[in-house]
Amino acid sequence: MQKAVFMTGLNQMEMRDIPIPTPQTGQVLVKLEYVGICGSDVHYLEYGKIGDFVVNGDFILGHECAGTVAEVGPGVKNLKVGDRVALEPGITCGQCKFCKTGRYNLCPNVEFLATPPYHGCLEQYIAFPENMCFKLPDNISTREGALVEPLSVGIHAAKQGKVTLGDRVVILGAGCIGLVTLLACKAFGASQVTVVDLIPKRLECAKKLGASHVINGKEEDVLAAVKQITEGEGADVVIETAGSSTTVAQTAEIVCTGGRVVLVGMAPEDIIPYNFARLMAKEASIQTVFRYRNIYPQAIKAIAQGLIDVSGIVTHEFDFADTPKAFDYVIHNKDDVIKAVIKIG
Ligand SMILES: [Zn+2]
Ligand SMILES: [Zn+2]
Repeated sequence: MQKAVFMTGLNQMEMRDIPIPTPQTGQVLVKLEYVGICGSDVHYLEYGKIGDFVVNGDFILGHECAGTVAEVGPGVKNLKVGDRVALEPGITCGQCKFCKTGRYNLCPNVEFLATPPYHGCLEQYIAFPENMCFKLPDNISTREGALVEPLSVGIHAAKQGKVTLGDRVVILGAGCIGLVTLLACKAFGASQVTVVDLIPKRLECAKKLGASHVINGKEEDVLAAVKQITEGEGADVVIETAGSSTTVAQTAEIVCTGGRVVLVGMAPEDIIPYNFARLMAKEASIQTVFRYRNIYPQAIKAIAQGLIDVSGIVTHEFDFADTPKAFDYVIHNKDDVIKAVIKIG
């Protein structure tokens, strides 16, 4: 038997014994070591749903994870017992037009960890397809391995915005996704990355992680500050990660002529007032981001080579036995926590 943490109701969690799964053909059994707490996990626990995804019955949260292969199923070719791996949490069908064209993040048949009805990974062992378990080199810890998931969102955002050498980038929001997007944009060669948030602690963190400028949206006029920082031009790429209608609307103003807007954050409102005339007058484009695709291998190499250092993202660590406490802490200290991880003992 193994331990797993179930969400049993809104703001209720409990640890239970469940069987250790047997790896099927093409699967490995992974002994999990770290699981990151994502904003989506917290949202499910507090509200029981995200959009159309509704938690029905007892549910295991967690989708950002890494661990060590403990057993291999029949037909496993590339991994062996003892390999340390980061798990990409979406198992796709491989048959639909999106999978066949390499855009598997859009697969309608995806089984994504901790997205109802599929359980997550806040447990000690998980059986998972070998081809979604990415081997970590010796110089990457499983703690960093668990951060490959959020980092992949940041890298996908930078790619969707075609961030390249010399770009001036503005990132709205300095939560975990804003900060990994900052790391990605710098790795992609942006010459200037400005990060905007309302919380001083997060802006400090952005500075530490290499932001060239930070703007506190509570104290400063964001549009005027960006204008000044970009010598009147506006940003080549604006990446919205805060998920607020205010910051979404700001993207049309901040982007430069011919520039790119990338929407990553999910605003609570479905419909947001937006100045499309301004965007069109600049012939600026809008891209969106849904998870990521084909990024784990690059992300792992970038961390291994020191191009991206994710270790500074983690602000809090909790033991597995304290998982309910960890979620409670995250819910009540949202301004203070950038990324909390659970160490699975
Ligand atoms: Zn996540
Ligand atoms: Zn598919």
